[in-house]
Amino acid sequence: MTDMTYPLDLSIVIPLYNEKESLPELVAWIEKVMNENGYSYEIIMVDDGSRDGSWETIKELSAANPSIRGISFRRNYGKSAALFCGFEQAEGKVVATMDADLQDSPEEIPEMYRMVTEDGWDVVSGWKQHRVDNALTKNLPSKLYNATARRITGIKLHDMNCGLKVYRSEVVKNIEVYGEMHRYIPYLAKNAGFDKITEKPVHHQKRKYGTTKFGVERFVNGFLDLLSLWFLSVFGKKPMHLFGFGGILMFLTGFIMALWIIVAKLVHQANGVRFRAVTDQPLFYLALVALILGAMFFLAGFICEMVSRNSAERNHYNIKERL
Ligand code: UDP
Ligand code: MG
Repeated sequence: MTDMTYPLDLSIVIPLYNEKESLPELVAWIEKVMNENGYSYEIIMVDDGSRDGSWETIKELSAANPSIRGISFRRNYGKSAALFCGFEQAEGKVVATMDADLQDSPEEIPEMYRMVTEDGWDVVSGWKQHRVDNALTKNLPSKLYNATARRITGIKLHDMNCGLKVYRSEVVKNIEVYGEMHRYIPYLAKNAGFDKITEKPVHHQKRKYGTTKFGVERFVNGFLDLLSLWFLSVFGKKPMHLFGFGGILMFLTGFIMALWIIVAKLVHQANGVRFRAVTDQPLFYLALVALILGAMFFLAGFICEMVSRNSAERNHYNIKERL
């Protein structure tokens, strides 16, 4: 089942931050599922700078089972960073991610694995259909947020940010999760050309130990990140097309208004009619604002073009095959 490039069937990447109590149970549960299904596998625990001794527990678990590997960050960099480093290390031809807090069930993985290997999906995302978190701070905002994300990304997922996901290995090797972009990995995948994205309803348990690491602020930041990703995917390689268009529109409007004001004044003057001063007309100020904004849009466009010209990724294309 395996080949040279990917010596294992499955890599399970687990980002964790202060989740010491959950780890032994989590590992035992995963081991049970892996053995029942006969996968060759590895568990990559990425300790995101825990302060509760999670790393010591990981070392003990790894000594007992050599399939358990670990990465320990010197400080807390965030879930995206942890996933990125886990993805880099992964050697399985299928890569699964899950949270460490026992909220996701490893028993979902075999079916999701099958959907990737047999049904040909690139990404199978978990969908916490019956979510057991706090209704007001998590479930409701999450519904709104997912509806927005569906509109902007065009990916029909109910639960974009579910920690439990399974990928074809090429996907995680060809995307770069950074900042707090772990919320939008399906969108990153789509922008990299992996558009066979689906979801599977998964069980969701209450957090048994420890506390949640994300508060309501994630919805504001999450929304801003979504806008940035949208901008990058639509105009990232041609920012002038956005700013230039806005600039032309704005500048032309301002120019026509200014022309109108001047011509009206001159015509009235030529006819010897008294007419109010140019600066007494609201249109004058509108014209000023439009002209200045239009010029600024152009400047922004030019600056963005210079920046993207310098980007190391300006000629980075995802090539599927060569002959
Ligand atoms: N996590 C992490 N680094 C962080 C914050 C969280 O690796 O800076 C991990 C955390 O340990 C857990 C997963 O990300 O395994 C999801 O976090 P959490 O359960 O707190 O999120 P929630 O389920 O409440 O949305
Ligand atoms: Mg959780």
